[in-house]
Amino acid sequence: MIELNKGIRIVGTELWLDSTKARPLGFISHAHGDHTGKHQQVIATPATWSLCRHRLGAKPKAIPLQFRKPYSVDGLTIELFPSGHILGAAQILIQNGRRIVYTGDFKLKPNRTADLAEVLPCDILIMECTFGKPQYVFPSAEEVERRLIEFIESAFEDRKVPILLAYAMGKSQEVLKLLGDRGYTVCLSKQTMDVVKIYEACGVVFKNHERFVNDNLYRKVLLMPPYLARTRMVEKIPNRRTAVLTGWAMDAETKNRFGVDEAIPMSDHADFEELNDYVDRARPSKIYTVHGAPEFAKHLHARGHNVEHLALGTQLGLW
Ligand SMILES: [Zn+2]
Repeated sequence: MIELNKGIRIVGTELWLDSTKARPLGFISHAHGDHTGKHQQVIATPATWSLCRHRLGAKPKAIPLQFRKPYSVDGLTIELFPSGHILGAAQILIQNGRRIVYTGDFKLKPNRTADLAEVLPCDILIMECTFGKPQYVFPSAEEVERRLIEFIESAFEDRKVPILLAYAMGKSQEVLKLLGDRGYTVCLSKQTMDVVKIYEACGVVFKNHERFVNDNLYRKVLLMPPYLARTRMVEKIPNRRTAVLTGWAMDAETKNRFGVDEAIPMSDHADFEELNDYVDRARPSKIYTVHGAPEFAKHLHARGHNVEHLALGTQLGLW
């Protein structure tokens, strides 16, 4: 039924889903690197396509598809719906007599810079399960924001420069939207600024941000991807305090893993409860789990579901 080879294909169709290997026809759910490939023909939302071009530097033929506009390809009717993960991120509904849904990465709770996800009732559900263990129930958005603001304000009080480490595409724009709208001045690394510009070209409005220049950092917040934390650029800032923003902050060892002062559980993924909620509301007769550990499939099986885990490889990215 499902072919797996650096991507997902529903047997009997030519459409590959989130394949990292180049295909004649590929749907890209969103622009994170572990979901994109240099296909001859790409199906993606216009925003994903803008972000992909930046990432891939390739120029395949694109079929930009708006949300909720049915489209026929290779004898199938397909339709894209928001997945709530990052700007442009989409789920795909494929109809070939049955309703087949592939969620891509998704989040049911609202984000500031991504359209709100909806649960799609279906017969076959192919879903991500990155945080598919019971210990991954995230605090409320209000609680996460409270911890973030507290981290920044206490750094200011102690005359330190707060440095936030967040994935450059998606998470950083969420943080910038939140902090900029609250009046904080946010200094961005080049990598983050490049993506912010694409978001702006897609219509997202950000306030109070500037390119990072190491001069007067008084009462400014720095925002950059985690891999820059141990570079000279950061080490030259003597009075710094660092926080990583990731769903993996639920694990006690995350602070040490990233060598930071604080780990704040801000995620653009569904947590364990949202994953279960999706299944309960979509009511599929068959489920495939992917992009995560097999434990979630075992959990669903124990709840009486017909489920298989697709082992694309366990991924522990910074999402
Ligand atoms: Zn992603």
